[in-house]
Amino acid sequence: MSETTQTIFSKIIRREIPADIVYEDDLALAFRDINSQAPVHILVIPKKPIPRLADAESGDDALLGHLLLTAKRVAEQAGLTNGYRVVINTGPDGGQTVYHLHLHILGGRQMAWPPG
Ligand code: 5GP
Repeated sequence: MSETTQTIFSKIIRREIPADIVYEDDLALAFRDINSQAPVHILVIPKKPIPRLADAESGDDALLGHLLLTAKRVAEQAGLTNGYRVVINTGPDGGQTVYHLHLHILGGRQMAWPPG
């Protein structure tokens, strides 16, 4: 088993550890972040274990589009009618801590800019 398939998110996909799952389809899973940084903080991940956005390939274009549309749907489902932020942390300088590509959906409060 590769390092990627052993991330905590792959374990959530395989239901080996619990998570508050809010959406699932054949390609993607969305669940609430365990350390919420906003009133709504949901992670959208591909079931395919792409470690970082930097590792995505041209053949992943449809999947990446699907993740963005999933983020939109999940935000709507969460009632974020006044807006929200979508974040992808990539690599050490990006602040990524889990090496399975994920989109953060943050909402329910006014976001600051620039991020830290
Ligand atoms: P990153 O720092 O890689 O962009 O984001 C990783 C996110 O995963 C963090 O916000 C962290 O709170 C969340 N996280 C880490 N472990 C778990 C877990 O076991 N369950 C859930 N639901 N979220 C997790």
